Amino acid sequence: MRIVDLIIKKRNGLRLSDEEIAFFVNGSVSGEIADYQITAMLMAIWFSGMDAHETAVLTDCMARSGDMMDLSSIPGIKVDKHSTGGVGDKTTLVVAPIVAACGVPVAKMSGRGLGHTGGTLDKLESIPGMSVNIPEERFFDIVRSIGLSVIGQSGDMARADKIFYALRDVTGTVDSIPLIASSIMSKKLAAGADAIVLDVKSGSGAFMKTPESAAKLAEAMVSIGEANGRRTVALITDMAQPLGFAVGNSLEVIEAVDTLRLRGPADLTELCLRLSSEMLYLAGKGDAAKCRSLAQKMLENGAALEKFKAMVSAQGGDAAALDDVSMFKHADFHFVVHASEDGYISSIDAEAVGLTASLLGAGRSLKTDPVDHSAGLVMHKKIGDKVTRGEALAELFTSKNCVEDEASRLFSGAIGISAVPPSPQKLVRARVTKDGTEWC
Ligand code: URA
Repeated sequence: MRIVDLIIKKRNGLRLSDEEIAFFVNGSVSGEIADYQITAMLMAIWFSGMDAHETAVLTDCMARSGDMMDLSSIPGIKVDKHSTGGVGDKTTLVVAPIVAACGVPVAKMSGRGLGHTGGTLDKLESIPGMSVNIPEERFFDIVRSIGLSVIGQSGDMARADKIFYALRDVTGTVDSIPLIASSIMSKKLAAGADAIVLDVKSGSGAFMKTPESAAKLAEAMVSIGEANGRRTVALITDMAQPLGFAVGNSLEVIEAVDTLRLRGPADLTELCLRLSSEMLYLAGKGDAAKCRSLAQKMLENGAALEKFKAMVSAQGGDAAALDDVSMFKHADFHFVVHASEDGYISSIDAEAVGLTASLLGAGRSLKTDPVDHSAGLVMHKKIGDKVTRGEALAELFTSKNCVEDEASRLFSGAIGISAVPPSPQKLVRARVTKDGTEWC
């Protein structure tokens, strides 16, 4: 087989066989295929697409190109969750403890934040003492004993994805549904869970800007999961504004803990209950209504909060900080952004809010940048809220000296105010399963 022939075949819009896809992935990882040939193939895929079978095979080969986590020694159905990335998305911190409190083991590998969205690992590391770099054996022990652990991804999982992503990033081939879907799902397949719940965001702060394009991505990912023997369900959810009020690592942990105490923002609480219910459903805990009421009960009886505290302690963190937030590191400066006119909040550009938090120190532009766990912002208003001139729109926290003006400008520019209230938007727009897409 010659890679040039396969590139021409895909360029001409033809299907690649399973063997041809395996040849491409394996040769890319072994170094036998040059970067310029990999890039040419990725561009050919970008233009010609891949059908569901090709995409499933590509994903399987990518998953097998590195370490595969074997969770079979943990009893029970292991369900993973993945979000395509959103601003203020701290759902893992709430959903994982709810599901674990229902007796479904959660052995989860998460990522760090890059650009305008935060990563679960950075959020967890803002808890004093908490470690997400723990040896695999200890990770398994924690899941076996308390039912829940969240750690960093192993350096050697889905090696092909690392090679492809680095090339896609600099060659204009990121925004292709088969390439995005295979990239995300290869890491999920390698992480070893039996079933997967996907939260595919749509809106200003998301990768996919419309619910329709998010549904296309979700359908591709559900089809990959099911073709590879993992039951997979996706929710299309709104990211037209940040989730909850807090954006920034420790601020988001504090909001997540409030949510575990049933004192959190309505949108965050609702999404966490929906995602938890889907995970419980895939774990065989009953029908939709039963799973929803189980999830709700774990918040009401405090079991989910206790599970979160148990995980924090098991991973070296100080669980007392979850009851006494003064134990978190605090930012040096704090200032308020005020509304410039009367009206109703009509839009909140989630990406710009995420960039504001990054500017304050909460995010990174390069993978190697450090983050300031105490930096970020807490919004006081969400879309639809009434606002009067001079009222606080948000509090911003930073330890940087000279960012107040720029951050205030960036945040103010993210907020749209109109004379009439906007029409309310649904938080969950659709549910995608192997049987199709149900719009809500
Ligand atoms: N996230 C990924 O992991 N891969 C993509 O291709 C896009 C987003």
